[in-house]
Amino acid sequence: MASGRTATGGSQKRGSLICLVAGAGGRIRKMRDKLLKMRDELKRLSAMGDAAAAVVELDQSKVGRLSRMDAMQAQAVAQDTASRRDLMIRRIQAALERIDAGEYGRCQSCDEDIPPKRLEIEPTALFCIRCASEQEISSS
Ligand SMILES: [Zn+2]
Repeated sequence: MASGRTATGGSQKRGSLICLVAGAGGRIRKMRDKLLKMRDELKRLSAMGDAAAAVVELDQSKVGRLSRMDAMQAQAVAQDTASRRDLMIRRIQAALERIDAGEYGRCQSCDEDIPPKRLEIEPTALFCIRCASEQEISSS
């Protein structure tokens, strides 16, 4: 277990792509596990969310008109959360497919490698930081 592969940081920049791929193998496998766990968790939450939405509907018929707005609002929030969760599940699914295709970690826009640190924070990232910020600017 103690293979001494702890990242000490610093000057580990390598020019060779082959070297990078070989070194990334373990990391990508770990990322795959992480993504699978995330997806399972989201699916679990999604099942729970469906139950919560059903509860809101029940409440709606039980309570009067005044809190109907509250119920509708709560439902809207639940739906919003659910759709965001679905989107996340799709993004995770896409990331897993990219891993299997050997495309994972490559920017979909400029074809450059996405820094591993960025992938750790955002495992479903499709773009490198530069392209992502350009996308954000153009979409906002
Ligand atoms: Zn890019």
